[in-house]
Amino acid sequence: MAETGALLDVKDLRVSFKTYGGRVRAVRDVSFHVDAGECVAVVGESGCGKSVTAKAILRLIEGPQGSIDGGSIRFEGSDLMALTENQMQQVRGSRISMIFQDPMTSLNPTMTIGKQIAEVMMKHQKISRREAQEKTVEYLKLVGIANPLKRFREYPDSLSGGMRQRVVIAIAMCMNPKLLIADEPTTALDVTIQAQILELMQSLQKSFGTAIVLITHDLGVVANMARRVLVFYAGKIVEEGLARDIFYRPGHPYTYALLCSMPKLNSQERERVSSIEGAPPDLFAPPEGCSFAARCPYAMALCKAQPPEIALGEGHKAACWLNHPGMPFEQKPEWMRG
Ligand code: SF4
Repeated sequence: MAETGALLDVKDLRVSFKTYGGRVRAVRDVSFHVDAGECVAVVGESGCGKSVTAKAILRLIEGPQGSIDGGSIRFEGSDLMALTENQMQQVRGSRISMIFQDPMTSLNPTMTIGKQIAEVMMKHQKISRREAQEKTVEYLKLVGIANPLKRFREYPDSLSGGMRQRVVIAIAMCMNPKLLIADEPTTALDVTIQAQILELMQSLQKSFGTAIVLITHDLGVVANMARRVLVFYAGKIVEEGLARDIFYRPGHPYTYALLCSMPKLNSQERERVSSIEGAPPDLFAPPEGCSFAARCPYAMALCKAQPPEIALGEGHKAACWLNHPGMPFEQKPEWMRG
């Protein structure tokens, strides 16, 4: 949905990759926006187009195999697709930062962590080495690294996974970006550390007013953090809404299946967690109708046609025929009847 004045406004984005088997249509006409200071979660199974969308925003789709085939990406009112590579390098790291799942892929193992943070500041700001070093120590403190002066001189391999991710967050935040894209930032960490990293990101979001796009396959991770949620399936957004609508009034069978696959931590009994049967469609030749039809327990003849996005409330919409106003009430699943 295009929003005038949004910090980030993505419209009709299409990304594909050329492979030996043909062209994979990884992102298919995706539109969404992110407002300044808000946290938007992007959820869905692996291969649904979440990470490719994030890379496309930063123009990190590698050619010649990968290409952005259409659509627009506007950030702070500028068309990112129209920027030169040099201008884009200024945007990356200073206006938009990205955190990846494995901190070791973002850190240089041959450089001390202090130097890595200081160099980012020196590259983007006109400050001296000494100033950059002082600020680095402040950022290490801010992200909860004890004994920052000592840690400054250490190499990434001497830190635990959680500490390394804190360093990556310090690098991402040291330029005070307007938007932070976090791609599965806690997946490689154990549960206790996951909670600490999410708490840290939340507190930095509040203090700096940074907007966050949080990419995850785990709806549980977004429960306390995201204001809005985008549900991706087979390269498309199938549902979008405020987190409370997605959790309590889902409007798409895929969202409902994701919710059912979440373990219930407060349950007294050990409940069976249902998994989603089947596999996503082949994105070489995506189906013409609803992409979820082959796995959907409610699929009907009508689903051979592409379902339109149907508004379910303010900012809440889902692409499923079951929401059509003409759909008989009795035909809707119980969880949809409200
Ligand atoms: Fe299921 Fe049809 Fe809705 Fe697709 S449109 S999710 S197949 S009911």
